[in-house]
Amino acid sequence: MAADTSHPVFTQQGPGTAQGPTLPASGAIRPPSELDRGRVENGQVLFDNWKGMADKPDPALPAPLPPAQRVGFAIVGLGRLALGEILPAFNECKLARPVALVSGSPEKARTVAAQYGIEAVYGYDEMNRLAENAQVQAVYLVTPNGLHAEQLRAAAKAGKHVLSEKPMANNAEQARQMIADCEQAAVKLMVAYRCQYEVFNREAARLVQSGELGRARVIEASNTQVQGPAGQWRLNAALAGGGALPDIGLYCLNGVRAMLGEDPIELYAQVVNPQGDPRYTQVEETISFMLRFPSGAIANCSTSYGAHESKDLRIHLELGKLDLENAFAYRGQRLRIAHRHGSAEAVDELRLGAKNQFALEIDHFADCILNGKSPRTPGEEGLQDHLLMEAIYCSARENRPVAIDWASEHSPVRQ
Ligand code: NDP
Repeated sequence: MAADTSHPVFTQQGPGTAQGPTLPASGAIRPPSELDRGRVENGQVLFDNWKGMADKPDPALPAPLPPAQRVGFAIVGLGRLALGEILPAFNECKLARPVALVSGSPEKARTVAAQYGIEAVYGYDEMNRLAENAQVQAVYLVTPNGLHAEQLRAAAKAGKHVLSEKPMANNAEQARQMIADCEQAAVKLMVAYRCQYEVFNREAARLVQSGELGRARVIEASNTQVQGPAGQWRLNAALAGGGALPDIGLYCLNGVRAMLGEDPIELYAQVVNPQGDPRYTQVEETISFMLRFPSGAIANCSTSYGAHESKDLRIHLELGKLDLENAFAYRGQRLRIAHRHGSAEAVDELRLGAKNQFALEIDHFADCILNGKSPRTPGEEGLQDHLLMEAIYCSARENRPVAIDWASEHSPVRQ
């Protein structure tokens, strides 16, 4: 049979022979070079780039503060978000650490405290005692929306900075009061709009606002999921403030505003509730709203508790299209940019180093506290969304477009 010559055949030759590859020599072990050992500058360990110019360099090394110097947080409410995302995210924080829990469920609180090595545990009616705990500098409100205002007041009175989950309240009136309470107590207030700290959303917003792809003309944003049984607080108006809109549609509203860097001047909305479904007697199942912006951009936003999960954002610009898949999800973002490539269409995918967006958000607030900065998403950002959500409900209720004059005291969003 003839030899198969379609594949090269390697035969081992002695090291250094002219005929074959050189095998590694067993040289003497030498101490690390500065390139390998790194160095310490201003309390941080630095390494020079060890990769060639063609490859992206490694991100900067994490430089966490020593635990005792980090901002101590009390986590208020031990529900799914607090246990599933927020407490685990502190492991990736560099400036913050969890030091106390506030809960209405003593057994659960004891269990979680043991899991995370947290000693201080309070009930909701003991939040005034936070004032005595110098380790606690901030509280993170992770309870149902309708409870945030009262818990914020207790935290602010105890002299603690407040990070509130979104939506910050049930309505604009509560949001205004929360801002006033924090001002009076001279503490900082931030709303946990995690997507504004997430790296793919940040890059998409940068691309849109840089003008590199021309002006944004049309945006599509959707945030849908299928809601389970009755009996959950999200279906109770007093605790939730609304249905799909404040819970998940808010990501479309706030996301579109953050992408464009402007506020809408007119909107139109429609609500649809399934007939005879007892879950939707107090809050809406599905709502779709259109926003018109001063730049001329239009956003079509849809949110529903009755449609299979999708959390995507698409931005059509003059010179290209951005697709941000899983824009509003906890993870799994993908950013694709379509644009003309000569006589063809090109689609580039940006592979950014994903980071835990909850950790980025918490560290941002800790940085504001440590260094006297203002949060990127302050209480006023949450109030703006509440005003807009009230205008969206008004439009749907009255079946008419609602114009918003931000400068006018008589604007519908200011009622
Ligand atoms: P859960 O229903 O999972 O947990 C809420 C927890 O709040 C409960 O377990 C309970 O904790 C406490 N609680 C106190 N009073 C009540 C009450 N009357 N009814 C129900 N719960 C009560 O809610 P989530 O964790 O999903 O949501 C909490 C907050 O986080 C909301 O504001 C929500 O909008 C926001 N959220 C934000 C997300 C994001 O991606 N940023 C995602 C999900 C939610 P305990 O037993 O310890 O008292």
